[in-house]
Amino acid sequence: MSAKLIEGKKISDQIRAEIKDEVAKLKSSGIQPGLAVILVGEDPASQVYVRNKAKACEDLGFYSEVHRLSAETSQAELLELIGRLNAQDSVHGILVQLPLPKHIEEKAVIDAIAVEKDVDGFHPVSVGNMVIGDDALLPCTPAGVIELLKRTGNSPAGKHAVVIGRSNIVGKPVSLLLLREHATVTICHSRTPNLAEVSRQADIVVAAVGVPKLVKGDWIKPGAVVIDVGVNRLPDGKLCGDVDFAEASEVAGWITPVPGGVGPMTITMLMKNTLKAALGKAK
Ligand code: NAD
Repeated sequence: MSAKLIEGKKISDQIRAEIKDEVAKLKSSGIQPGLAVILVGEDPASQVYVRNKAKACEDLGFYSEVHRLSAETSQAELLELIGRLNAQDSVHGILVQLPLPKHIEEKAVIDAIAVEKDVDGFHPVSVGNMVIGDDALLPCTPAGVIELLKRTGNSPAGKHAVVIGRSNIVGKPVSLLLLREHATVTICHSRTPNLAEVSRQADIVVAAVGVPKLVKGDWIKPGAVVIDVGVNRLPDGKLCGDVDFAEASEVAGWITPVPGGVGPMTITMLMKNTLKAALGKAK
């Protein structure tokens, strides 16, 4: 392997230490950042994510509440709870764990969260503010990608970034954040012809696809930075990304591992958003 490793876990720990310091300072002015997490139903992966979020709150000195609701909860009941949390002063951030049961309309739920408490950054107003470059609570995984680049000295400014994937959760927002950071951005997706050829032009490749080892070594320009957002479970139970790590790490200049790259950044950026919301800096 010739590429340098982008150690997401280490960078995430650094940011958490910075957050902890800020929380300690805030305490003297009587403010404790608070996060409310809502889980509807018993999806096993979601249960793990929610537990990890509550644990992060505990570790960093945040106030937290977890609302575990049955899979039969009606949309009206969920909206009523969000309404209450919107008005609750001890809660600065509200996160509804996705996916939701089919009878609940995701958009109605996201739209109901007060914009200043939208720590997932999925509310249309948050997205709009991000697009026009205003202050906003940024979506956590894309914001984590930008932190990884900046904190390893790989500023996107003036670089050609190729993003593979255009979901509302990762591909689209990470493309817009790279643009905001002055990269020239190409967005690829399932209907892009000559994906390998486009990818080879990139100084920065961000893969957010959900297809194990899609991005091969010969898709990478020598020395490029490779950010692998993908988390895929292989038949043998192991996790792997959207990038063929063994191949790509021989060509790239920098690369994120899976696990231990982008993954650890997501919850850390959620905590950073909650802190920002508590400071009243969020819109
Ligand atoms: P998604 O399914 O919503 O979107 C996938 C995107 O990839 C789509 O835009 C689609 O057009 C594109 N795509 C699909 N097949 C393609 C192909 N063969 N060639 C080119 N493009 C193709 O997925 P998502 O929510 O954006 O997640 C993407 C990956 O990132 C998944 O593996 C997911 O588990 C992972 N993820 C990780 C984190 C994290 O914290 N590390 C957070 C969110 C998502």
